[in-house]
Amino acid sequence: MSTLLIENAAVCAVDADGTEFRNGHVIVDGDRITGLGEGRAPEGDYDHRMDASGCLVTPGLVNTHHHLYQWATRGLSVDSTLFEWLTELYPIWGRLDAGVTHAAATAGLARLALTGCTTVADHHYVFPADAGDQLDALVSATGRIGVRAQIVRGSMDRGESDGGLPPDNLVEDTEAALLGTEQAIDRYHDTAADARVRIAVGPCSPFSVSEKLMTGAAELARRKGVRLHTHLAETLDEERQCLAEVGCTPAEYADRLGWLGDDVWLAHTIHLAPEAIRRLGATRTGSAHCPTSNGRIGAGIAPVRDLLDAGAPVGLGVDGAASNESGGLGEELHQAMLQARQRGGPTALSIREALWMGTMGGARCLGRQDELGSLEPGKLADLAVWRLDGLAHAGITDPVAALVLGSTPPLARLLVGGRTVVSDGELRTADENAIAGELRAASTKLQGKR
Ligand code: ZN
Repeated sequence: MSTLLIENAAVCAVDADGTEFRNGHVIVDGDRITGLGEGRAPEGDYDHRMDASGCLVTPGLVNTHHHLYQWATRGLSVDSTLFEWLTELYPIWGRLDAGVTHAAATAGLARLALTGCTTVADHHYVFPADAGDQLDALVSATGRIGVRAQIVRGSMDRGESDGGLPPDNLVEDTEAALLGTEQAIDRYHDTAADARVRIAVGPCSPFSVSEKLMTGAAELARRKGVRLHTHLAETLDEERQCLAEVGCTPAEYADRLGWLGDDVWLAHTIHLAPEAIRRLGATRTGSAHCPTSNGRIGAGIAPVRDLLDAGAPVGLGVDGAASNESGGLGEELHQAMLQARQRGGPTALSIREALWMGTMGGARCLGRQDELGSLEPGKLADLAVWRLDGLAHAGITDPVAALVLGSTPPLARLLVGGRTVVSDGELRTADENAIAGELRAASTKLQGKR
């Protein structure tokens, strides 16, 4: 175990007291934060010292919603509604295999690390027959880049012939989906506080999943003590279909099926009636807010201010790269702030609330608020050191304003469990050019067969 002293930096701890230091330090011992404060650190025999002058230290960002495999299908169906976009992409995704998934996931994770992200929730719900071991491909990609993962074993069991949106060859049998999910939990889910990999249960969405799979998934997750995730209330098309089929809104449907609770986080939650917002808050159900993807699809603007006021945890997500080609999490801080203000005016979301959502809000969505999401002694050393003295940010006095209002700054350092993943703006755990080459080959393999 070695010690690292980060000194001469601005620090935004994102703790309950709103602790910030203008010229502070952070001490890391092994995989934990052991101290932080204003001014010079206590004298000690540190193994490594980092002069972080001109930098801001924050908790590592937490990505609460992604589909990493989509890095192999970026830039398609570019002017479509969600249902049009899905219908065009499903047949391509039907040709996924473990090799493509590994290459796409590695690229997506590298991009996330380079934009300040240290923990990634990935919702993987496409399991074509004979695709190989895609879960293993995802787990090995997270190990290769060195970030923490919450892999959501997704599923779809409602193909076109059952009134669902996906083609029949892309869906699993209900029992097979539940069995595959249980096997993923048994094989990969780590309950330790410093876990690198956890598994959650994630039927894809009400329009691609049967009621039997939704309720079976909730029962399985609670029996195993893991978290639940799905897409909900993303578009008005979804709401219309839900009203026509089951006679209630998606949020009411989720409530009816036992899908609200502090062990659940939901992607998007854009179209919510006031009563649904109150229910999400009262049950402490989390929301994964994905502003860039919502904008690209034209889905609407999530009522983030109202959800926060109701007491619901809200985190940020990039969503799959097929609906957010950038895939960078740093810019979602900026987008979340802009979209909240477009909906609710200039006081609808402060810049520090945007940073809270990207860190502690995300940790709460994933149930990891005790070990991640803020800089406090005893917490895991997952942190980002943003360089703010370059052309893009120089002269902005408030470092949090520079981070949230400006473009995503380069990283002087990104630590995950005390281990350096990025330094001086470059990925240190893998070769960025090699990853880009693998991604190009995977995209060609998948799309070339069209
Ligand atoms: Zn999604």
